[in-house]
Amino acid sequence: MDSLDLINPATGAVLQGVPMNGIAEADAAIARAQRAFESWRQVAPGDRARLLRRFADVVDAHAEELAQLEVRNSGHTIGNARWEAGNVRDVLEYYAAAPERLTGRQIPVAGGIDMTFHEPLGVVGIIVPWNFPMPIAGWGFAPALAAGNTVVLKPAELTPLTALRLAELALEAGLPEGVFTVLPGRGDVVGQRFVTHPAVRKVCFTGSTRVGKSIMAGCADQVKRVTLELGGKNANIVFADSDLEKAAASAPGGVFDNAGQDCCARSRLLVQDSVYDRFLSLLEPAVKAYRVEDPRLDTAEMGPLISAAHREKVASYTAEGEVAFTGTAPDGDGWWFPPTVLLAQSASDRHWREEVFGPVISVLPFHDEAEAIALANDTEYGLSGSIWTRDLGRALRVSRGVDTGNLSVNSHSSVRYWTPFGGMKQSGFGRELGPDAVLGFTDVKNVFISTES
Ligand code: NAD
Repeated sequence: MDSLDLINPATGAVLQGVPMNGIAEADAAIARAQRAFESWRQVAPGDRARLLRRFADVVDAHAEELAQLEVRNSGHTIGNARWEAGNVRDVLEYYAAAPERLTGRQIPVAGGIDMTFHEPLGVVGIIVPWNFPMPIAGWGFAPALAAGNTVVLKPAELTPLTALRLAELALEAGLPEGVFTVLPGRGDVVGQRFVTHPAVRKVCFTGSTRVGKSIMAGCADQVKRVTLELGGKNANIVFADSDLEKAAASAPGGVFDNAGQDCCARSRLLVQDSVYDRFLSLLEPAVKAYRVEDPRLDTAEMGPLISAAHREKVASYTAEGEVAFTGTAPDGDGWWFPPTVLLAQSASDRHWREEVFGPVISVLPFHDEAEAIALANDTEYGLSGSIWTRDLGRALRVSRGVDTGNLSVNSHSSVRYWTPFGGMKQSGFGRELGPDAVLGFTDVKNVFISTES
């Protein structure tokens, strides 16, 4: 079997090889998952809940090991990686409550009783990108399993190690064989097989908009369900009436977290023209102080980029922009890149329009509220964003005016496992997390029982 060498992005050293499974292995895993579905769907709700809680406990017991593994494989800072392992535990615990709450309805009808049931779909295929291997896996598999589905999951080529470990931990927690399988492989082979295999009843895809479109087209052939969590080019709108010190101190983290490899990165910084110069003078020291260093250190705020090829792509954007200022980055081995602020000349600059997916902020001034909303919406994407203002009416007006699935006011946070997350426009559709995500892994069945004699 073909195999791929994984590289530690912070050092450039080879970590280990990982098998790249093919169609035969994908078909075998899907067949096992289909067999496992027949018994998993029959497991009593309380027992399924208990198994998911035990899975959460086992993840918790191995959280540090998972975090260290993510640091080596993905170059995430240890602080982030600990949060990510904790997030998997949290979503498992949260959705462990779902099996006992998946209640249908009894609907009044004449001549009988009408009931609805939330039926599991069957085998769910989950395709994960390299930027957040653990949380994005968990956001899919936890609600899918809770609803009574079985899961085959394809991690990204470059970052499969934590997902593979999670599959082992699932078995250790007592989940039956075949209920949760992780299958490393290439997207156009294993991922594509999830799209074409008739036994896979839903594909949950997180990744680029380009690939998402092809997944959606492929799923149409079998009218297969699909959720798409795609790219973003999110606006951070700073009004003159905001707490400028707080907004400037927070802006770097809103982009440079995970080295900017974040679909929610607020990489389009819109600053009201009356405070533009002052804001940049506050932003500069915050960018320069951003700690880019060995991701194993507790003090690290940012690690390296994922690969040499990705670093080249990010550099192609900064090379064609006007650099306002940069932070610093180690210059040794590894795929380091300094936090960079670019002055956009107009809203047609490539770095303003495209998802750079690196530690790069593009700044543009705006004049008034209407222009801020128009600029924020002038993108094919609609995933997240931030608004900084002390005016409550403006905060609500702009929140309603910006076409994006998640918005934060006076904050850059996007994700809480108990609130819904997902995109509008070409950032995708379907919602992960929150109380309703589990319903996306079910079909509603309606049953009518005649009571006529
Ligand atoms: P990508 O689209 O290249 O790959 C994502 C996954 O799809 C990988 O596992 C890959 O192997 C697989 N894949 C590739 N081609 C495929 C095909 N033809 N058929 C089936 N599967 C295929 O994306 P990436 O570079 O790994 O991740 C970065 C992208 O993900 C960015 O655009 C980012 O914004 C997006 N993202 C979105 C969210 C969200 O929640 N909206 C979260 C994280 C990342």
